Amino acid sequence: MAPGSGIFDKAVESHSKYTTCEIPTMKAQNVSIPMKNTIPPGEKHGINGVHELLQCSTCANSMYPPIHQCPNGHTLCVNCKRIHNCCPTCRFDLGNIRCLALEKVAESMEFPCRYQSLGCNDLFPYYGKLKHEKHCSFRPYTCPYASSECSVTGDIPFLVAHLKEDHSVDMHDGCTFNHRYVKSNPHEVETATWMLTVFNCFGRQFCLHFEAFLLGTAPVYMAFLRFMGEDKEAKKFSYTLEVGAFGRKLVWQGVPRSIRESHTRVRDSQDGLIVPRSLALYFSSGDNQELKLRVTGRIWKA
Ligand SMILES: [Zn+2]
Ligand SMILES: [Zn+2]
Ligand SMILES: [Zn+2]
Ligand SMILES: [Zn+2]
Repeated sequence: MAPGSGIFDKAVESHSKYTTCEIPTMKAQNVSIPMKNTIPPGEKHGINGVHELLQCSTCANSMYPPIHQCPNGHTLCVNCKRIHNCCPTCRFDLGNIRCLALEKVAESMEFPCRYQSLGCNDLFPYYGKLKHEKHCSFRPYTCPYASSECSVTGDIPFLVAHLKEDHSVDMHDGCTFNHRYVKSNPHEVETATWMLTVFNCFGRQFCLHFEAFLLGTAPVYMAFLRFMGEDKEAKKFSYTLEVGAFGRKLVWQGVPRSIRESHTRVRDSQDGLIVPRSLALYFSSGDNQELKLRVTGRIWKA
């Protein structure tokens, strides 16, 4: 869920209450607000008051320029302006009045990152803050489970516990692995299936994905590793995956991808061990009715 979308819903609800305003409207005039003294950035006692001023009185989200106001001076954010015809506070016709004074105040100030409580201690100018927050390394991670239905977010220890408890994901300690994947009907690759195992090594966690899907029109099996952490840390590791039997072997060496990148994106970029079904049958100890693939692998510090 996008941050604040719950609040947005509420705003939409309250909007319906105001769609029929019967209070006579006052036409918007050109309002010019003289602006001489901005609050000096970082001045301690001004900050909280200004933070309150910069909070939309309708949806309680932070307001970013363009900031709007009604003819009576009630300010509201650009989203609320879009959905309300009249001021939610006094019900006057909103018109199209900017609140330049508040916009200037906003631009002159520095603000903490919204993930301050998660450990980010930097201050940012108004516009820089939004840009930073999109990439802040303290922002919560999305659950790496290969399903678009899970929208759980949190830090890594929280997500590891969540994978174990809510998705019943297998947890393994150690940097080498030896897995056997069995698919009862190898010809049923059309409906994508997948498995996730979490490895705990070097004090970090890695997600090993194994799945069957159609790559274009070709049924394939694919295995790849994702790192539960930031991309720059993921690059400090390497891994190999090997599938083989009956004198044949296919080896993949790669670099784990951060879980900041979605499972689907990594899969679609084909950054992993891909075994076409036709080849997989050579490695399979089962007959044509059942596919058994033995995948071994190792993770190390590059
Ligand atoms: Zn608002
Ligand atoms: Zn108003
Ligand atoms: Zn931050
Ligand atoms: Zn989840």
